[in-house]
Amino acid sequence: MKITRVVTADVRFPTSVDLAGSDAMHPDPDYSAAYVTLETDGDLAGDGFTFTIGRGNDLCVAAIAALGRQLVGVDVRDLERDLGPIARSLTNDTQLRWLGPEKGVIHLAAGALINALWDLRAKAAGVPVWKLLADLSPVEIVALVDWRHLTDALTPEEAVELLERAVPGRAERERRLLAEGLPAYTTSAGWIGYPDDVVAARCADVVAAGYRQVKIKVGASAEDDLRRVRLVRETIGPDIRLAVDANQTWEVAEAIERIRQLERYDLAWVEEPTSPDDILGHLAIADAVEVPIATGEHCQNRVMFKQFLRSGAMEICQIDACRVAGVNENIATLLLAAKYGVPVCPHAGGVGLCELVQHLSMFDFVAVAGDQPGRIIEMADHLHEHFLHPVDIRDGRYRAPAVPGFTSTMHAGSIAAFRFPDGPVWSGR
Ligand SMILES: [Mg+2]
Repeated sequence: MKITRVVTADVRFPTSVDLAGSDAMHPDPDYSAAYVTLETDGDLAGDGFTFTIGRGNDLCVAAIAALGRQLVGVDVRDLERDLGPIARSLTNDTQLRWLGPEKGVIHLAAGALINALWDLRAKAAGVPVWKLLADLSPVEIVALVDWRHLTDALTPEEAVELLERAVPGRAERERRLLAEGLPAYTTSAGWIGYPDDVVAARCADVVAAGYRQVKIKVGASAEDDLRRVRLVRETIGPDIRLAVDANQTWEVAEAIERIRQLERYDLAWVEEPTSPDDILGHLAIADAVEVPIATGEHCQNRVMFKQFLRSGAMEICQIDACRVAGVNENIATLLLAAKYGVPVCPHAGGVGLCELVQHLSMFDFVAVAGDQPGRIIEMADHLHEHFLHPVDIRDGRYRAPAVPGFTSTMHAGSIAAFRFPDGPVWSGR
């Protein structure tokens, strides 16, 4: 079975209408997927995507098409052995890499394609991606990673040792995963565009639904932030964890001052306090405040994760399934985070990101970091109905998917309806 065609789609959801997804830096997002299907001459296809918030989704689609050409002719059987080198050939395309390297639109495109390859490989194997990964040997896992520019922090040999230590506990953790799932927190109660009464009502609802942590957006005026954080803390009580997300808005000194004002409300973490590229800025903030500093959803690649994790600037590691080059590069980050003892609490605020990233967390739990205090996965509660196999959350916990693949496949009807600009949802606007 060979890949015969790379088919793309620009799929956008008009979420800016009701402000779901809004934050201090992005007031009007239209959650979008630059979607790709790897068709084969057999009966399987691999689906993947990267996430954007509207304009620019077309640029990602064009980059996926440009980069995806090299996958035509790839034998699906070879994915079992060669997915490391194939992923590297996408991120290191000798000419297209100039557009990054390994960052921005071209890297988002690589992420979409590599995720689609994993969907195809897992479908061919008849297992979900988390299970496929969790059953690989340490040597096979390490062979998936591009080690270039990482070995000053972690060598492949050290990574094998780290993974070997987790092998004896794999079966027991998998049993617990299947029985109990992994904890989730929700962001859907506290988008910045929501008025106070909506935030309070939604926070009460999600606590009643079993969530043990909520996150709200901050980064408005100091008075607004204090009022919202106080309101939410009073609504959820002292026993539910509360995280806040500033979405990059503050200067470094300002972040320190603003976080100190909010710390009295017992925060689980403060997320993206400043520029996602500012490693030294994050370190200064982390050194100055008590509350843990979280970041990673905009961290461009494994080399930046290395610096963040090694320096202590990233105290909660927020991988994103689509920002970096898919599963392979996320494995590098999981290994680095395990080495430095930083809990991985993935970012999933976007269309389909929950569906994808749950697999990486489950793999991390079973085969990499194992039991780790503070591990929790974001849940943004909208647009799941567009997927064939939406996430299954019960009592505030992600349940392990059982279907083969990456749970990345969208309904054909959703793609047709929300296709930009000619689908019926958009053509009438
Ligand atoms: Mg965030």
